[in-house]
Amino acid sequence: MNREGAARKLGVEPASLSPAPAAPRFAQTWARMLQEPPCSACGRPSRTSGVIHDPDHGSRWLDRCRECFLATPPTLDVPPGRFLEELREVAADARLRLRTYTDEAGWEGE
Ligand SMILES: [Zn+2]
Repeated sequence: MNREGAARKLGVEPASLSPAPAAPRFAQTWARMLQEPPCSACGRPSRTSGVIHDPDHGSRWLDRCRECFLATPPTLDVPPGRFLEELREVAADARLRLRTYTDEAGWEGE
């Protein structure tokens, strides 16, 4: 589910959200997350922030607490197997140890 869908599912009105940059740099999103603004849906401290694009209200921050995030998980742009394959390649290129768990293969890596 994309962020706009998450906002709809959580009953968040875009007009109630803070204006955001249309395409925030990671540092901008990270800075917002460090502030732990209240969850846009329930008011608990948020754990993740992102931007939604509303036709009437423009770009707005959508901040979600753990529970609201888990209720509206993002969808991957690629199949999970391919995502893990690419993640392993990136980790290997960066010489980072990576350990993953899937229902099919269990724990893999160190
Ligand atoms: Zn919440």
